Amino acid sequence: MALRDNGGQTTKRATKVPRTVVIIHSDELVRLCDNLPKVPKRASLTHTLIKAYGLMENARVVQPRRASVRELSAFHSLDYIECLEQVTNGDECEEGEHVASEYGLGFDCPVFDDLFSCMSAVAGGTLTAAEMLNKRECSIAINWQGGWHHAQRDEASGFCYVNDVVLGILKLREKFDKVLYVDIDLHHGNGVEDAFSFTSKVMSLSFHKFSPGFFPGTGSHYDVGFGKGKYYSVNVPLKDGITDKPFIEIFSRVMSEVKMRFKPNAVVCQCGVDTLAGDPMASFNLTQHSIGECVKYLMQWNLPLLLLGGGGYNVKNAAKCWTYLTGVALNQSLSLDIPEHEYFLTYGPDYQLNIPPGRRHDMNTTEDLKNLLNTVSGNLRKIR
Ligand SMILES: [Zn+2]
Repeated sequence: MALRDNGGQTTKRATKVPRTVVIIHSDELVRLCDNLPKVPKRASLTHTLIKAYGLMENARVVQPRRASVRELSAFHSLDYIECLEQVTNGDECEEGEHVASEYGLGFDCPVFDDLFSCMSAVAGGTLTAAEMLNKRECSIAINWQGGWHHAQRDEASGFCYVNDVVLGILKLREKFDKVLYVDIDLHHGNGVEDAFSFTSKVMSLSFHKFSPGFFPGTGSHYDVGFGKGKYYSVNVPLKDGITDKPFIEIFSRVMSEVKMRFKPNAVVCQCGVDTLAGDPMASFNLTQHSIGECVKYLMQWNLPLLLLGGGGYNVKNAAKCWTYLTGVALNQSLSLDIPEHEYFLTYGPDYQLNIPPGRRHDMNTTEDLKNLLNTVSGNLRKIR
């Protein structure tokens, strides 16, 4: 146990607070999220694999409630939420289909069965997780069904309908003065950044692919926030092919600067896994190892930590990675052999938890990463 110097007068033992991990889960949440059109059955695969590894037994499993219309409108416009509810019921929005498409419903955000129930359950899950942290009932809360970081105040975007991340941060802000949002999804966390771009109380930090024509097109390192929030939006734009080693390196270098400058009281991490090798996004070349290192890095700060899901379109790999991260949160190492369970055959032919790196070339040169780090650190040093 580490000894802490106490003002140079007495030296006492630091008390090690046992880490309690809450996993948000209900059969209903899984059933509703299985219907998400871009990630069918991902919720079931994730939940059953976590369970098969026996991880639920070492965590506190908390059932989410559904978020009410009033709670959803803490961020979203009432008109948009009512439209979501109406289209789910098979009704058109008050002013018809035209309005639904203005709200972003259609193309990459199709209406599906139980859309509204699904979104209120997802948001309720993230709110329940944040409340557990607010009440100090746990040190880490996990909602792998959350993390829908692109949704805007009155618009569905990039497969995201309701921004549970923003709602979760607003809930944490009821208790914690400064909340750090870390987004390691392949895509820029634009919906969350936009929501907090004018405040110095929430720092939004996103590591993502940035390339012409790549969704959502925002998140350059010149994008730093506005007004009182200037320099509290932090962006780390990367190129295709990044592998574990440089990703961990740039993550830890940026994080140590962020911790020093922002001094957060609580942390939310969106752990989108569309960065993994083998994802249909075919962009980054990470394995579960680097994503686990990012989570371990945040865990060592011993701050209330909310872990959310996000992208991850190779549903089998997403389930593996989030299971691995659940093990990380619980300080439990997992056997590489996938245990026998309901979906065991999905993981053939190797039945291994590991996600091997691909052969993709890393387009990020050492020089690129050095320059990027200098710019990002330079911006952070402007925080007083
Ligand atoms: Zn993504």
